[in-house]
Amino acid sequence: MKRVAILGSTGSIGTQALEVIASNPKRLAISMLTCNSRVDVLRGQIDRFRPKAVCVGRKADAAELGREYPRLKIYCGAEGIKEAIGTVDCDVVLNAIVGIAGLEPTIEAVRKGGLTVALANKESLVTAGRIVMEAARASSVPVIPVDSEHSAIFQCLAGNDENTIKRIILTASGGPFRGFARDRLTSVTVGDALIHPNWKMGRKITIDSATMMNKAFELIEAKWLYGMEAGRIEVVVHPQSIVHSLVEFDDGAVMAQLGHPDMKVPISYAFSGPDRWMTGTRGLDLIALRSLYFEEPSGEARRSLDLAYRVMHDSEATGHDSGAVALNGANEELVRLFLEGKIQFVDILDTLEYLIDSHRPMAITSIEDVFVVDRAARRAVLERLVVEPLLS
Ligand code: NAD
Ligand code: MG
Repeated sequence: MKRVAILGSTGSIGTQALEVIASNPKRLAISMLTCNSRVDVLRGQIDRFRPKAVCVGRKADAAELGREYPRLKIYCGAEGIKEAIGTVDCDVVLNAIVGIAGLEPTIEAVRKGGLTVALANKESLVTAGRIVMEAARASSVPVIPVDSEHSAIFQCLAGNDENTIKRIILTASGGPFRGFARDRLTSVTVGDALIHPNWKMGRKITIDSATMMNKAFELIEAKWLYGMEAGRIEVVVHPQSIVHSLVEFDDGAVMAQLGHPDMKVPISYAFSGPDRWMTGTRGLDLIALRSLYFEEPSGEARRSLDLAYRVMHDSEATGHDSGAVALNGANEELVRLFLEGKIQFVDILDTLEYLIDSHRPMAITSIEDVFVVDRAARRAVLERLVVEPLLS
């Protein structure tokens, strides 16, 4: 029986992970659940999965839960999550928190040791991939990807030597605005951008999929997970989302993982691999599909991917990883402003390009360094889009 801690249990990945756990009651049990603010959803999860501990964002919620569940250990806030990870016994920590808020919990889990980290929170690797992977190696903690593309690569690598990888090919659905040039994006609304053709996900990653910054971040995620240079990781657009990614090996063999888009498959594999458990996802009918098609990233998507390549090349040339941190922090701030209706969709990429053009790379040797660069990038976004227009 594996004891699982789910960080971000009320989100899209978190709730699907709980479905996987509910389908495997003899194999998996919940030791801890955390959420930020959706405490009503969390209550239902506590009643059903009986965790030993929970962590919530707000003190008032923690106090109320304490009265309702006197035998439950309750933690609160960012410090609370770290303390809980350090204290609560578990075999797997699934990090399904969104954004850089997931970074410190990832670090805490990899440093604790004696467990496996199932990582959905790609921002941990985007902002501190070098630090996370070094800490994981030092404490022999496996970092298992939950992101569908990286899980596909992980599955393709089973039984193969990672040193024989020639290149990695990430697939991208292209999102709702696939192939759109800039002029078609100037009038898109939050509602347009929140409709994803193939996946139902949280709001932040859905906007990232519409700008293709999600794929940009996945390039950086793959670089750190598989120790691969930027020049050997490519993106192809595959609007059907059936091929989840591919690996080409030195001998010319190409392995791919296919299936209908369903996050329960990579979530389940993160718990079960190399074993495989039933997920209830429907099988592929290749005859009905008839064909699989692929195209080159085009339009605005190219700009997003280029930003990722630029920061990866900088990091390879100088050893300075701050570009990716700035890209992530600025993007989080821009997505928030867009979702709040304060900026236009096209402002997101325009501002990211402007910031990366003026970014001076610096070494990132600690988590404190990450937060210094993250805060500066967020300030720069606000100055450019909120303060400067007021002054002009
Ligand atoms: P979501 O918004 O649906 O859920 C986020 C969860 O994190 C919630 O439980 C929320 O309470 C918690 N949370 C939010 N802010 C927090 C904070 N400051 N501190 C602590 N907890 C906080 O997000 P999601 O779509 O489930 O995505 C989660 C992560 O998984 C992201 O990094 C995303 O990129 C990645 N991912 C998601 C999918 C998907 O299908 N949804 C696929 C691949 C990767
Ligand atoms: Mg993905």
